[in-house]
Amino acid sequence: MRQDVDLSGIRAEDLAAQECPVTLPPVPSAAGTRALLIEAASALLDERRALHPDELASLAVVPDDSVTALAALAHQVRLAWCGPNVELEGIVSAKTGGCTEDCNFCSQSSHFDSPVKATAFLDTGEVLRAAEETASLGASEFCIVLALRGPDERTMARLVELVPLVHSRTGLNVNVSAGILTGDQARRLAEAGVRRYNHNLETSRSFFPAVVSTHTFDERLDTCRLVKANGMDLCSGALLGMGESDAQRVELLVELGALGPAEVPVNFLNPRPGTPLGGEPLVAAWDAIRWIALFRLALPGAILRYAGGREVTLGDLQAMGMAAGINALIVGNYLTTLGRSAEEDLRMLSDLRMPIGAVGSAL
Ligand code: SF4
Repeated sequence: MRQDVDLSGIRAEDLAAQECPVTLPPVPSAAGTRALLIEAASALLDERRALHPDELASLAVVPDDSVTALAALAHQVRLAWCGPNVELEGIVSAKTGGCTEDCNFCSQSSHFDSPVKATAFLDTGEVLRAAEETASLGASEFCIVLALRGPDERTMARLVELVPLVHSRTGLNVNVSAGILTGDQARRLAEAGVRRYNHNLETSRSFFPAVVSTHTFDERLDTCRLVKANGMDLCSGALLGMGESDAQRVELLVELGALGPAEVPVNFLNPRPGTPLGGEPLVAAWDAIRWIALFRLALPGAILRYAGGREVTLGDLQAMGMAAGINALIVGNYLTTLGRSAEEDLRMLSDLRMPIGAVGSAL
């Protein structure tokens, strides 16, 4: 059964600090690594409890030659907590570019000289066509994504009209990503039938001010909490590779564990020209596998979705990520970069003998 995870053991005042509260231990020996993996398996598979922050920190530093063992455990945990299904989601960028916020990784910010130009909200027919194409791939989810700080009244009116229409025409669960919400907006979206609302934490509290200055980490957390309080499923994930430390990635995992999202998209930075992070190196493929596995071990019951940057980061290792804890994919074209074709992803799942379906129905 899918469960929210409560990673207790880290103090609220630590999470409120701007310094990373996590200290990583030394790299363990081969025998020490085996013991850590056995303890983690016992906790997650036998006791069915979440890992403590210190257990996660120890697993984060196992040697590179133990990443396959870490991934194997993560796959077992995924099957035990979520079942075998892989959930597919299509997304449409219903309003692209021109965003007032200054997220340093984002080509849709109006603060940077990026090739992505601002567009108006797509018309209803275009959104419906994207949803029908998503349904034809066998997906169960469709997310309407808007690049903005938060919705104004005109945007709210369009969303409240579109969400039930898309659902009734396609049968898809309709999800929305539209930035920071007020309590009243969260209530209206929930009443309109929004199944899941996406609002990524993106990075740890201690690293957040290095990449965003126009809103705070706490504003993001507040919206995440409003989503849950109004009965929508929370989708909140991460963007790895912005210059954060491994300790800060563990800090983020602890924060996500406390928040308890139903879905966690894992993005890897695909450096965009013109943005302040346009010159950052890619996350190394083997490190990406390590962190996918750690996300699964930290969030055993979550729908863990491959999102942006996976093609450039993982290359030939994309299938390995599916066997390291991932159980959901965004298929088709991503927001401003071209994802690989849906056919290639469907072939990969078929080769891996992984059934497509809503993860909830596998429980
Ligand atoms: S709020 Fe969203 S769309 Fe706007 S700059 Fe940040 S990541 Fe990009």
